Amino acid sequence: MSSNLLQRLRSPRPTVSVEFFPPKTAEGMSQMLVEAAKLRPLGIDLASITYGAGGTTRETTLTAGRDLRALGYGVIAHLTCVGHSRSELEGLVDQYVAAGFSGILALRGDPPKGAVGFTAHPQGLRYASELVELIRARAGQRLSVGVAGFPERHPDSPDAVSDLHWFAHKVKAGADFVTTQLFFDNADYVRLVADARAHGVTVPIIPGILPVRSLKQVHNFCSLSHAKIPQELESKLIECGENEAAQLAVGLNWAEKQIVDLLAAGAPGVHLYIVNRSDAAQELLVRLRGRGVIAPV
Ligand SMILES: Cc1cc2nc3c(=O)[nH]c(=O)nc-3n(C[C@H](O)[C@H](O)[C@H](O)COP(=O)(O)OP(=O)(O)OC[C@H]3O[C@@H](n4cnc5c(N)ncnc54)[C@H](O)[C@@H]3O)c2cc1C
Repeated sequence: MSSNLLQRLRSPRPTVSVEFFPPKTAEGMSQMLVEAAKLRPLGIDLASITYGAGGTTRETTLTAGRDLRALGYGVIAHLTCVGHSRSELEGLVDQYVAAGFSGILALRGDPPKGAVGFTAHPQGLRYASELVELIRARAGQRLSVGVAGFPERHPDSPDAVSDLHWFAHKVKAGADFVTTQLFFDNADYVRLVADARAHGVTVPIIPGILPVRSLKQVHNFCSLSHAKIPQELESKLIECGENEAAQLAVGLNWAEKQIVDLLAAGAPGVHLYIVNRSDAAQELLVRLRGRGVIAPV
């Protein structure tokens, strides 16, 4: 499966993948699977499942990942270093392999709510690069390993030079692909790719796109991710007032233009942050197929 995933990511046909997060309740989990089931017949066959801060979704990430796999998705399960010893992480890698996941997105993770700065577990890891090494040592090539990329630089990085240095270091520790943080200005992605290539990073760098649903949502996401909201996008959302359908239409138009331009600029595909809802991805697939930029089902 891992080599299939790599072939897919390296093929000239753009991949479209979607991201789910494990819901807190059984009802939420069923609803997530209903939404996931709607996207499978539309030609989306790669899904990622996030890992809650501090290991809070240890079980539900696994369960949701297994359920997505049962729907026919190739699953990329996220894993973070927060709150875990090395041996716990090794155990989780074993479970991901046994579950038949296609890949792991190896992340450092953010500090738990209220904590200032990241503190490693006493027997744990400090950086995503160490997790990449641990996964490779434990699982070899039995699954693919991805890492996070930051078109607008990681918020903890003191400057662009150190940001790129550690990013390249992390990829060279054994990553097969990069998925980026959400961004709204394609120039940031194009710069990241150019800088990464200049630093010897050759793996596919998949842009992460948020089809914005509302002004409130984009403010929440940007305060967490530190992504910039372009003035033009914000003004268009403000003009919609309380009209949620109009706000979603603005978000879809923005995402469509971003994706068309990114694929034209050579992006290997696109990863959609769909917040467990299928409607925006469905609409984007129709539009992108209509424009001939992704293959028919
Ligand atoms: C696509 C994507 C998916 C995500 N999914 C999740 C998720 O499921 N769960 C979750 O909790 N969080 C998730 N995150 C958030 C992520 O955990 C945070 O952004 C976190 O702050 C950094 O993780 P990282 O893996 O990039 O860390 P790292 O690559 O370790 O980098 C963190 C910081 O340390 C610096 N650094 C790295 N190595 C060194 C070194 N050796 N010496 C000095 N400095 C160094 C880097 O420059 C950077 O500033 C996701 C982010 C992205 C982009």
